Amino acid sequence: MTEIAIMGGAGYIGSHVVKYLLQQGHQPVVYDSLVGGHAEHLPNCPLVQGEIGDREKLTHFFKQYPVAAVMNFAGLIAVGESVLEPARYYQTNVLQTLALLDAVLEAKIPHFIFSSTCAIYGPPQFLPLTEEHPFAPVSPYGRTKLAIELALADYAAAYPDFNYVSLRYFNASGADPEGEMGECHEPETHLIPIIFEAVRGLRSYVQLNGTDYPTPDGTCVRDYIHVWDLAQAHLLALQYLQTQQKSQCFNLGNGNGYSVREVITEIEKITGQGVPVQEGPRRDGDPPILVGSSAKAEALLGWKPRYQRLETILSTAWNWHQSQR
Ligand code: UDP
Repeated sequence: MTEIAIMGGAGYIGSHVVKYLLQQGHQPVVYDSLVGGHAEHLPNCPLVQGEIGDREKLTHFFKQYPVAAVMNFAGLIAVGESVLEPARYYQTNVLQTLALLDAVLEAKIPHFIFSSTCAIYGPPQFLPLTEEHPFAPVSPYGRTKLAIELALADYAAAYPDFNYVSLRYFNASGADPEGEMGECHEPETHLIPIIFEAVRGLRSYVQLNGTDYPTPDGTCVRDYIHVWDLAQAHLLALQYLQTQQKSQCFNLGNGNGYSVREVITEIEKITGQGVPVQEGPRRDGDPPILVGSSAKAEALLGWKPRYQRLETILSTAWNWHQSQR
């Protein structure tokens, strides 16, 4: 059994990782501000409320829980919002994350797993995106994540007892197999929960953020990866660090791209309900296509997504949304 600190563990991806780690016999301890996270989604495990920028609290937390590794899910995640409020994004995703890293180093915790994003690549120069693709993020969100990736590389080079894995998620989606926890943010900005809100009558339509992209139907194409597959990748990444002691970055995607319109059509099929749409302007900070190759994670971690079909991914999300009625 390994004790693992899960920063931001009450959020969407973090809470799924907590559940998965418990099922696999590990002991997660959660640290979360509970600003965006939901304590009620958390399985039974220790929870400390705090900001990742609060050094004093972190020092105390790491003394109370002498963990073997830290996974950091805490951060702001909305691309459009980051364009409008960059200061908040730099404060949280850069400054506070650097404070967390200081506390991790001070506590001599050897392994750090970072929630990064395919947004660090920007518009693709080639597809599918590999880890070698140049970095050219087009949103403050992507730039804040890249800033931490660069810091992590410098830290690992300078501090021999510290190593990290950076996991570059494509579009996290779906819900745990039992439908106990799912994706919801306040306010909701993510496509899939927004479509389900329309299905549930909680909003009157879904706005298409741009219909003139250079894609087959004019809407943005994304690579949707199931949150349970992401959870498995985190444990594999930790095991990699524990055995190899070598820092790495990995893409975590499905390798299949679906447009906004295709996601809506699939949800209409699954739910049997029509989804009203309205064509709107492009959202700043959106690359037209993001589809990844996860060959490196497959080769080095032995990771293979199990929920590959969009229909399966969306069905698990629907399963959870139905329980929220
Ligand atoms: N999107 C949309 N309407 C919405 C929300 C999102 O058309 O109400 C688009 C968004 O502009 C992007 C895609 O859906 O092209 C996926 O967006 P999301 O915010 O879910 O994830 P992101 O790709 O930004 O991480």
